[in-house]
Amino acid sequence: MPRLASLLADGSGDILVSLQFALDEQRLRTVSGSARGTVTQTCQRCLEPVAVEVEANVNLAMVLNEEQAKNLPRYYDPLIVEAEDVELLSLIEDELILSLPLVAYHDDCSIQTSFGDADEAARTQETKPNPFSVLAELKQKADKS
Ligand SMILES: [Zn+2]
Repeated sequence: MPRLASLLADGSGDILVSLQFALDEQRLRTVSGSARGTVTQTCQRCLEPVAVEVEANVNLAMVLNEEQAKNLPRYYDPLIVEAEDVELLSLIEDELILSLPLVAYHDDCSIQTSFGDADEAARTQETKPNPFSVLAELKQKADKS
């Protein structure tokens, strides 16, 4: 979903799509189901990544042209099938894009900031020499002398 991905902070996140294809009582070919997942956008307050839930629900009926589309029961959206091409994926992508918040931000950016501090503490610890490697060094020196 390149158009959706272009609106995100990175390409991480999965979208779970579940679709049901059926023939309804009016003999209409229908596609119904949902797509949902969590993607990452940039928080517009602190500019850190923020997880955003996206969701799309579809209730479509396949039609061959605009005329048939107009005659569909109102609870269906038309899925116009031209030749062999069905733009189902891009239609779901559109719905997911519409479900993105206009502006993404954390409920509380200070919580995010404290996570950042924890990360920094972890990094500082990593750069400290490992006490065992110091011992190993001492042992090496002792062996040499
Ligand atoms: Zn934030």
